[in-house]
Amino acid sequence: MNIILAARIKVTKISQYKIRVNYFANFAMRNYEKIISIIKDNNFDRGGFHGSGVVGLKPFVDNKVPDEFKLLYTQQELKKFTQLRGTPRDIEERMKVKISDHYLKLVQRSEHLKNLIKARSEETEDLSGDLDPSNQNRYSPIPGLLHKYEMVLLYTSGTCSSHCRYCYRLDLFTKKTGKQLAKINEVKDYIVNYNRKVKACQGTDPESGKPIYFIKEALLSGGDPMALSNKRLARFMFGLAEAGITTLRIGTKELAFFPARFDDNFFDMLDLFNKTYPHVRVVFVVHFTHPAEFLEMDNEQNYLPSNLNSFTFDWMKETLNPVLKLKKRAHFISLENQTPIIWKVNDDSATLNMMQKELYNKGIGNHYFFQCRNIQGKKEFALPLEETWKIFSLSQKGLSGIEKHARFVMSTEQGKIEVISVTDGKIIFRIHRDPYDIRPEENIIICKSNPNAFWITDYKGHIIYDPSSILQS
Ligand code: SF4
Repeated sequence: MNIILAARIKVTKISQYKIRVNYFANFAMRNYEKIISIIKDNNFDRGGFHGSGVVGLKPFVDNKVPDEFKLLYTQQELKKFTQLRGTPRDIEERMKVKISDHYLKLVQRSEHLKNLIKARSEETEDLSGDLDPSNQNRYSPIPGLLHKYEMVLLYTSGTCSSHCRYCYRLDLFTKKTGKQLAKINEVKDYIVNYNRKVKACQGTDPESGKPIYFIKEALLSGGDPMALSNKRLARFMFGLAEAGITTLRIGTKELAFFPARFDDNFFDMLDLFNKTYPHVRVVFVVHFTHPAEFLEMDNEQNYLPSNLNSFTFDWMKETLNPVLKLKKRAHFISLENQTPIIWKVNDDSATLNMMQKELYNKGIGNHYFFQCRNIQGKKEFALPLEETWKIFSLSQKGLSGIEKHARFVMSTEQGKIEVISVTDGKIIFRIHRDPYDIRPEENIIICKSNPNAFWITDYKGHIIYDPSSILQS
């Protein structure tokens, strides 16, 4: 009998005889640590000399990277990085450099992906932008936790398998704003106590008089939670389920950066989780930025049409396999994609159109397209907002109603703001999600067009209609 099977039987027995589930009752009664103890604490080899991919620019500058990584930077580029080191324009002071073996292979056939991962000296030419994008610390009641809407978000990991240059969690990686990682026991206590408060006040905050909501949903974010070992990831998942969470999102780019991470042990852990908490839905919020991250290509960099039909393309097996294994578990798992639209990476409506069709065809929903956040150095990655809206809108042409579910939004300090239209010299926004309980009839904002705007704050002097005064807050 193999170890996993034996473990499952053991766990089933534990589940049946020791741990009768009453999900909203006394969670302290349950000893889920016992269940987690049988999950392997696995390590993965993501490449480089030490299994974490190549981390930092120094190995490149010192010529201490495996041969295949040497193609990434020219000598001239490395010289420039060296000149910038220790100055206010130091590239890695802005955002850490990291790349996995798997993504390096993809980069070799796509300039777009190279632009996603490769440090550029221009990144620090203009460092305007927020150190803590969207002022996330304002919504952090305990370390490592954001509670802005009806759900909570946890910083679970301080890294990803590779690092996107446009990353909006850059301060978590550089540790410049005091953000810390979540501790599951503190998070559990916070959720349980908060839900007690909501129950006691029957959903109306006694201080503000505004509605407050039970925390039923949690997003494991980071960095990438899939960069954790299965055991550490399980500790978060099981702990949140114990605290009463019924929808668990896992935000990950690992299907693009290192799909081999979705190993058998991981799927065993997921099945164990489902067996223990059959009422909890798990949503993988994946992050495909460009179809070259998952489609097969020929030597001329054309995508290969599928043999099965003339409308779809061939996926790389190493990416498709984990997607199919996740989809096989549709009774408790679903997948949604979200990505920013980034200059020189995916700023092309035809590419995004094709990506949405392919993702939908494989059962991955199209959730959000984002404006690049107002991060430090954004000028090297963001397109003007109205231009991004146009790329997004054109990418919707020819999609069917069920393929066309994505919204184009900005994740701002004031909430998620959707760009609905740019028309007749005006731009129309809708407040899609907000922490203030804005009334539905007050959730539209109209401003004069500003082709030079990159972010919502660039419209402050252009307001025509803002009944909720959100632009003034
Ligand atoms: S995957 Fe997300 S968190 Fe990780 S580097 Fe990219 S943008 Fe940042």
